[in-house]
Parts: sequence; C-alpha cells; structure tokens
Amino acid sequence: MLVPLLTLLLPTPGFPLSLREDEVALRFQSVAQGSRVILEFAGPRPNYQVEKEANRVVVTLQGSFHSIPYKSKNFNEPILARFKLDRGSRQTDLLFYTGPEFGTVTSFEMTAPFRLVLEFQKKESRAAVPLGAGIPDVTSRQAVQVAPAIPAPPAEHSPQPPPAAGAAGLPVQPKAPGIQVIVVDAGHGGVEVGAKGSTGLLEKDITLDMAKRIQAGLTKSLGVRVILTRDSDKQVSLDDRTAIANHERADLFLSIHVNASRADKARGAETYFLSYQATDGESRALAALENNTIGVETPPGNSELGLVLWDLAQSHYLSESSKLAETIQSNLNDLLRIESRGVKQAPFKVLMGATMPAVLVEIGFITNPEEEVRLKDGDYRERIAQAIVQSVATFKERVEKQQGLR
Ligand SMILES: [Zn+2]
Repeated sequence: MLVPLLTLLLPTPGFPLSLREDEVALRFQSVAQGSRVILEFAGPRPNYQVEKEANRVVVTLQGSFHSIPYKSKNFNEPILARFKLDRGSRQTDLLFYTGPEFGTVTSFEMTAPFRLVLEFQKKESRAAVPLGAGIPDVTSRQAVQVAPAIPAPPAEHSPQPPPAAGAAGLPVQPKAPGIQVIVVDAGHGGVEVGAKGSTGLLEKDITLDMAKRIQAGLTKSLGVRVILTRDSDKQVSLDDRTAIANHERADLFLSIHVNASRADKARGAETYFLSYQATDGESRALAALENNTIGVETPPGNSELGLVLWDLAQSHYLSESSKLAETIQSNLNDLLRIESRGVKQAPFKVLMGATMPAVLVEIGFITNPEEEVRLKDGDYRERIAQAIVQSVATFKERVEKQQGLR
C-alpha cells in the first residue's frame, strides 16, 4: 500500500528531470475556474514580486534566468490571453496578459523543489480559493511583495501571526463567512492503535482525549460548532475523516497525532501542512507511518500521475493552512517552552482531500520516555489543548477581519 502512494506523490512529469541553477520550468494548465501557471525553480527560492496591473500580471524575478522555455506564447483564452518574457541583465519579467473575463490572481509557494503557483480566475468566480492570497491591485509598477507561503519564524515572544493581507480580490465564498465549524480529528482508533510508548501508552488514546479537550475549549471560548471524526475508540478510514469535514462544510480541519521516532531522544511538537513532497527525510518517514493505516485505498493508476498534485483538494488552501500551522507551532513553543521542531510539509493522506485549511499536529514524541510520562499527565495535555485553541482563536480573528466581519 505504502509504496504506490509514495510513488504517486513524486513530482509531476513534464518538467525536465534535472534543471541547471538558473533554469525555470514553466507549465500552463487550464482548470475549471481559470488558468494556472506553475514556475518550478532548479535553484533556491528566488527573490520575486507579483504585481497586478490593468491588463496584465507581472512576475519579476531578481537575476537573469536563461532557460525559461518560452519567449512568448499565445493562449487566446478569456482569462489568460498570452505570455511574454522580458529578460534583463539584473531581473527577469514574466508578463501574463489577461483576457476580458479575468477577475483575480492568487499565488502560493510550494517547496522541494521551490515552485511559485499563480491561479488566474474568472470575474466573480465562486470557486473556493485560499483566503488572503489575493494580490492587491497596483496602478503603477510599484512593487508588491507577496508573502511567502511559509512565513519566516515569528520574533521571539511574539505569538501573533503575520499581518492580514489586503481584502482586494477576495472571491465570493459559497458558504457562510468566518470560522463557524471546525472538525477535530483524533488520529487512529480501534485496532489501529498508532504509535506506542515504551510503557504501553497508545497514540489512539492520547489523540481521542486531546480531541475532546480541544472540542471543549473551542466550544467554550469561541462558540463555534466542533465536530469530532470519532468520539470513541473506533476505527475510521483516512478518507472518511476528510469526508466528514467536507460534508459538514467545515472551515478548519485539525488532525491530532502523537509522534514516533527511532531516535528516543527526539522531543517536541511539530505542525504540518500538506505537500506532495516532504521537507526532509524525517517528515517523509512520518507521513509514510501515518499513511500506512488499515483502510488506505488503492491510489489511482500511474496514468493519472501528472494530475495528482492538482487533484488534491487541499492544494487550494495551502497558503491559509501554512499560516494556521505557523500560529499553532508558535503558540506551542511559547506556552509549553518545548523545543521547536518547526512547521513542516509532508504528504499526509488525511489532509489531501480537505476543502478547507487543514493541519496535522504531532503533539509530542511517545517514543521519548520523558515525553511519554508528560503525555500521561492530564494537566500537560490540557495546556497543549489550550495552546491549540488559542491558535485557532488567533486564526479565526485574522480571517474574519480580512473578510470585514470584525
Ligand atoms: Zn498518528
């Protein structure tokens, strides 16, 4: 089961297998809501700006990129009309001329390899797109720096998330605005026990207790509706967990897990959002472990390989998911003074189908004997639950301010 799933998550074909440092692969896709452009970079994350002008969107890359595959390209589509390359010695401009039906452009980043994704959407598109990813209009070539998808770690003693982006370009949402419904997912359950501590503590029991604490905290302090994917010791498939969240039209999906490592000194919390490639070997191994549950369905055949990344519902929400992950990680570090293991990305199957911001929190290492003792302590678990509740409160406030609800 495990191997095909990971094979499925390899980079999309169509990009050269290896790119030189100054090479950029460029891909255009027509999607239901408009047009998508993916820039994949061989080298590290470049300095770049995205500007929306009257009839075009300009991506300015600092430096000269010699291997962009097109100098110009006509699409003659109502949203994206044509592409033109304007290369200078110090910077490279990619000009995307928009068509009469163009409404908004959103962008987000993906890592390993670094990719910049632009989504050109129709006017008054009702498609669900990431909140806060809208690029403000500018009338001149004045630069607008797009916030990176993975924000820089916040300054010490500053649990606040990055400032809200402008509300310009936010699409009409097909559902009630704000954060009203939250699904909390207690990892594992039933015969599928999850990770196990040296004294026999089981991940499935900790996650259920945590989910109930988080539910109580969110209900009490935010007055939101909180649904659990399981409220007893029973097995639920990974697909069903996300299906519950989608069916309930949840505004947030939080999956709670407990980490395991062969290194018994590994400690601390980790917050993840989805990527089709893991940020490092540890994350890859962890995702494999969490994905390898009973009930993982056979993935589609290899013929669909190229479609996989963009078939993932969650790919539309990565920007918001990364902000939520950053806030949770920051609060866990501040409140518990536990070692930061940072925000990471990995191909967790339980996050893939979620049509809302979604994160997975590994609250500690059950394989570390000291942490296993702490995880058995209800007060300790309550502090972690409260840190997560506080993070959701911060996220909710930011989203609702952005939507003009506060
Ligand atoms: Zn787990």
